Amino acid sequence: MANIILNKNNFFNNLDLISKHTKSKDKIAIVLKDNAYGHGISEMASLAKEYGVKKAVVRSNDEAKSIEEFFEYILVLGDIPKEPSSKMRYTINDIKSISKFPKETLVELKVDTGMHRNGISMSELHDAFMQIKEAGLILEAVFTHHRSSDELTSEWFWQNDNFKKVKQEAAYLAEEFGFGSLRFHSANSASLFRTDSFDEDMARVGIASYGCLEGYEGFAPVLSLYADKISSREVKRGQRVGYGGTFVAKDNCVVSNYDFGYGDGFLRNSSNEFVTSNGVEQVGRISMDNSSFITNEENLLIFNNAIDAAKSAGTISYEILTSLKASLKREIV
Ligand SMILES: *Cc1c(COP(=O)(O)O)cnc(C)c1O
Repeated sequence: MANIILNKNNFFNNLDLISKHTKSKDKIAIVLKDNAYGHGISEMASLAKEYGVKKAVVRSNDEAKSIEEFFEYILVLGDIPKEPSSKMRYTINDIKSISKFPKETLVELKVDTGMHRNGISMSELHDAFMQIKEAGLILEAVFTHHRSSDELTSEWFWQNDNFKKVKQEAAYLAEEFGFGSLRFHSANSASLFRTDSFDEDMARVGIASYGCLEGYEGFAPVLSLYADKISSREVKRGQRVGYGGTFVAKDNCVVSNYDFGYGDGFLRNSSNEFVTSNGVEQVGRISMDNSSFITNEENLLIFNNAIDAAKSAGTISYEILTSLKASLKREIV
């Protein structure tokens, strides 16, 4: 078996840093999509509640339902409900989708300020407000998403300028169409930490809360992954390990095989490249339920920092984490 350990102190430490930046716990919306970035949605929802977080962001209706008891507010990014709910807010990602929402659904309008992925275009704002009104939906917020908040370029600034224009127009339209005062939000983790003068109504924070925001001091990774040894053997110089024999031993060594493979979320592409957080080398092809390392440890730490793991696997921490299957055992310490 491979198992995941979740460190509550580290999580709370990260939430402390985040709430210092948002200046209030009430402005944190913890992003729990994709099984809470592989950490386990119910575990992280209950810890977030214990800390005092009242808002969450998820991808689907099913995810929202599974954590309903923990939060006062849940924003669903990519789903359309069958009936309205007093707790769930649903994202309008496209002007053509407005007619699909049931009457009286609480909605938040996503505006495309430069990412060109989801959201209505800035020029559709008036039309969108009109159609939302006609469809009998209740508009509570307008938001956007940055395409390059993690790159220290000017892009973040022009998107902010665009969103500033959207806010002004939306506030005016809200009055015209009688929606009351709207909430506005645009920040993900990287965006939140680029400014010391955060002044929006909430921040949608994912990776920072899990302790894997790069480029900032003080965050501590929440998730560590361990795998149990199945067997060990002496491999002689020149012998090969695993499918295809892709690893050739340069010297005699002890190679052990662990109960963790791509079927559990280990990225097969990182075969022969991956190094554990303690510097233990993975060798041979990663198979479905097995992977080999040059060590003899019984319970091997695979990683306790997804940023480093991602570097050795040639990807980003988000992918390392969300690949971890929901079936892995998770324990909070
Ligand atoms: C995933 C996501 C976030 C969280 O991003 P992080 O970089 O993990 O903080 C915020 N907003 C939206 C719309 C997202 O899809």
